[in-house]
Amino acid sequence: MLIDNHGRQINYLRLAVTDRCNLRCNYCMPSEGIDFAQNDRLLTIDELKTVSGILVSQGIDKIRITGGEPFVRKDLMVLLRHLASLEKLKDISVTTNATLIGPHIDELKELGITDINVSLDSINRETFERITRRKQFDVVHENLIRLITEGFNVRINFIVLDGQNEQDIIPLLEVMKHHKVSVRFLEEMPFNGGSKKFNAIKWNYKAILDHIAETYPNYTKLESPKTSTSINYKIEGHVGTFGIIPSFSRTFCGSCNRLRINATGDVITCLYGKPKANLRDLVRNAPNREGVEEVILNAIGNRAKTGFDAQKEHVGTVFDNSMTSIGG
Ligand code: SAM
Ligand code: SF4
Repeated sequence: MLIDNHGRQINYLRLAVTDRCNLRCNYCMPSEGIDFAQNDRLLTIDELKTVSGILVSQGIDKIRITGGEPFVRKDLMVLLRHLASLEKLKDISVTTNATLIGPHIDELKELGITDINVSLDSINRETFERITRRKQFDVVHENLIRLITEGFNVRINFIVLDGQNEQDIIPLLEVMKHHKVSVRFLEEMPFNGGSKKFNAIKWNYKAILDHIAETYPNYTKLESPKTSTSINYKIEGHVGTFGIIPSFSRTFCGSCNRLRINATGDVITCLYGKPKANLRDLVRNAPNREGVEEVILNAIGNRAKTGFDAQKEHVGTVFDNSMTSIGG
């Protein structure tokens, strides 16, 4: 079991398998993209297998695959098949923009990988294309409907972006009224590859909830797992639920159970802090299992208590990075 220096059990790994993406969401990176890592700096699928295997033996029982866009990696399913075979791994999930998942839906189901988070920041074609800077609305729509109708446990991540998509909050809840989907509204964070700087947001947790309450005053708060980053609600008469993730306000740090490994092997113990070590050399060529275990124990033994403390590890701004290289 992995326990950090503040007594928090760490059992959840967010594993970024690439920093590349086929979209250019304007809250995530600039239109020209970021300085993507060179190919040989990315962990190979075998190296990702090694890292996850070691972490599972150390006590990780939940892995979320993220990126970049995980499905731009042609060999992603090789990794997912391997993860599905790990007995001690109870929960495998994927966060995706749903553009490339279509051909893999059947196999995901066969592997029992049914928890899929889809990032969808608009249900209007024009707004979607303006935010993502790509024309992929139809395929995302089609794949989302397929995932829902085929019984996947779908959660929609919707970042509320001032002046861009707030008009879609209520219509999205209305569309999802009859579907067993959880729509989660996220506060925007300035992790956008340096294209935009801000110290405050209009659409914070409270503003989002107040806005929803104007149309749906009959909502109730749901019990959520202690480690949940979203505060969850149910609207009377709706099959699905909604949640709000205070990613900018960071009210969830006290129960954080997460560890992140990014696509180049950086060990990140807090989204807002600096990477604590890198695993690539330890797993490349002749994997050094004890070395990896020691690095992980060390990193987890030196975690910042909160995202605000972690942020002090940076001399300048913490927000010059992009989510695509951290993994979200
Ligand atoms: N490409 C996949 C996707 O978009 O779902 C996975 C990677 S993406 C970096 C992971 C998550 O980070 C997505 O849900 C995305 O919405 C979120 N994200 C990216 N930039 C963000 C920002 N500036 N503020 C808040 N969330 C952000
Ligand atoms: Fe790509 Fe996801 Fe970033 Fe959008 S949020 S640019 S889909 S990595």
